[in-house]
Amino acid sequence: MNRFIKAAVICLLAGTAAHAEVTEEMLANDQASTGDVLTNGMGRHLQRYSPLDILNKDNVKNLVPAWAFSLGGEKQRGQETQPLVHDGVMYITGSYSRMYAIDVKTGQEIWQYDARLPEGILPCCDVVNRGAAIYGDMVIFGTLDARIVALNKDTGDVVWRKKIADYKAGYSYTAAPLIVNGLVITGNSGGEFGIVGEVQARDAMTGETVWTRPVIEGHMGTLNGEESTMTGELNATWPGDMWKTGGGATWLGGSYDIETDTLVFGTGNPAPWNSHLRGAGAPSDDGMGDNLYAASRLGIDPATGEIKWHYQTTPREGWDYDGVNEVVAYTDRAGEKRWATADRNGFFYVLNREDGAFVSAVPFVKDITWAEGIDETGRPIFAEDNRPGDPAASADGKKGEVVFSSPGFLGGKNWMPMAFSQRTGNFYVPSNEWGMDIWNEPITYKKGAAYLGSGFTIKPNYQDHIGSLKAIDPDTGEIKWEFKNEAPLWGGVMATAGGLVFTGTPEGHLMAFDDETGEVLWSFQTGSGIVGQPITWEQDGEQYVTVISGWGGAVPLWGGEVAKKVNYLNQGGMLWTFRLPEQLASAN
Ligand code: CA
Ligand code: CA
Repeated sequence: MNRFIKAAVICLLAGTAAHAEVTEEMLANDQASTGDVLTNGMGRHLQRYSPLDILNKDNVKNLVPAWAFSLGGEKQRGQETQPLVHDGVMYITGSYSRMYAIDVKTGQEIWQYDARLPEGILPCCDVVNRGAAIYGDMVIFGTLDARIVALNKDTGDVVWRKKIADYKAGYSYTAAPLIVNGLVITGNSGGEFGIVGEVQARDAMTGETVWTRPVIEGHMGTLNGEESTMTGELNATWPGDMWKTGGGATWLGGSYDIETDTLVFGTGNPAPWNSHLRGAGAPSDDGMGDNLYAASRLGIDPATGEIKWHYQTTPREGWDYDGVNEVVAYTDRAGEKRWATADRNGFFYVLNREDGAFVSAVPFVKDITWAEGIDETGRPIFAEDNRPGDPAASADGKKGEVVFSSPGFLGGKNWMPMAFSQRTGNFYVPSNEWGMDIWNEPITYKKGAAYLGSGFTIKPNYQDHIGSLKAIDPDTGEIKWEFKNEAPLWGGVMATAGGLVFTGTPEGHLMAFDDETGEVLWSFQTGSGIVGQPITWEQDGEQYVTVISGWGGAVPLWGGEVAKKVNYLNQGGMLWTFRLPEQLASAN
């Protein structure tokens, strides 16, 4: 070999080692590679399960802080990020669309990026961000002005920046993007403003749009810059022009199952909240008023954006039971390929992974009022008397009958992700036991204004607790154990092969539970409420755990009587990393 070429090859190899790029293969293997965390969900199936067992039930008591990192500034609002770890660097997003790169060994900042947000952004539920994606030499995240930005992962410099939608119409973005086969795939936020939910795929290298898939019937999708197919069938389940501002925000992002090559995105409430304005007044056999595909889960072909299947958790939705909660791909104890999702509406669903067909549903919270159960076809058995009334039927036409509904609109489970343990075969679901008084009002659509047509007050169902972490057997629906927490749970859950389940509380504790009994084996006070998502990884033979602390999110803003109960909690903004020192790993 020519010595100049040889030198160039050595340089290239050295360069590769120093600045390792992230490939599709690495993303596909993320759930098994213990030295990094490359995807939202610790694997694109979103199981949030680590095969690491260095840290276990016996030695977790020896878990100690390694370093902490302050997000700084005056922007101490809800911190919901899931950190990523790659090549010695941790990447986190912060409130107000900020991003940080941090040395995992020392906690020193490498760079910080602050999105310059315009005046007039319309985030509904705090100025949060839930995390980034990593691909090639870029980290990519969404911003509150409904844009997506790709940064050079080594410098924080902007590589490309694109508009997802018009923030002036109420669109925003807070979810972690998903990367599949070189496409960066995002949803949108803004379901309380009469926006239209959509899934978009872009070339991750350039940011150029490849396909779009609106999720409300009647809207056209696109592929390579041309119209592709209409979503659903015009006016099949939506009366008149209501579909044009029909909601269905895809605000929590999606999951990907490599075995069936399927993206799954959930869709939020149909707009407005007042279901009587959407043809949903009376039970019907023809589907009118079901408002497809709002409050649903959609299986989507990642190459084209075509909808492969749909399952609607709440037809005729009228309680803000967004259907966005994460859909986790797993294999049950009998070896069947399944999806599972714990819906805002209080039911835990199992679907067939091949075609999205309904398998089973059980309540995972107590006191559900809106439905008596789910029938064998997967359709709710509505409790018609508990439906918020039609204002048009009231004496002055201004306020429909008030009903008490449980769960309340913040849901039996909200955005905070559950975990699936491959060790126990159980799901660990962060849930809340609360209800609301809700009533309907007249409303007309106005661009950039709240489009609800409802009023509500959320309230606790029990005096001693709202939060409830539950271990659920997905095969039987049995609740194996429950941990009750005074404040509503709003943070993510993680399970490990060491037999541990981690989550945080608004009261500030990061906690480790025995995955079989629910016993609290370890906890640490982080100084502010935890609404972030824990991760774990291995470095130099030691196991690390990281979580962000910083109280906020929707509860203090929207929580009615519950907000008063938790108004003593202090804000923050601190990233905590814990380590099990090698010499203590075998100590009991
Ligand atoms: Ca990994
Ligand atoms: Ca909503």
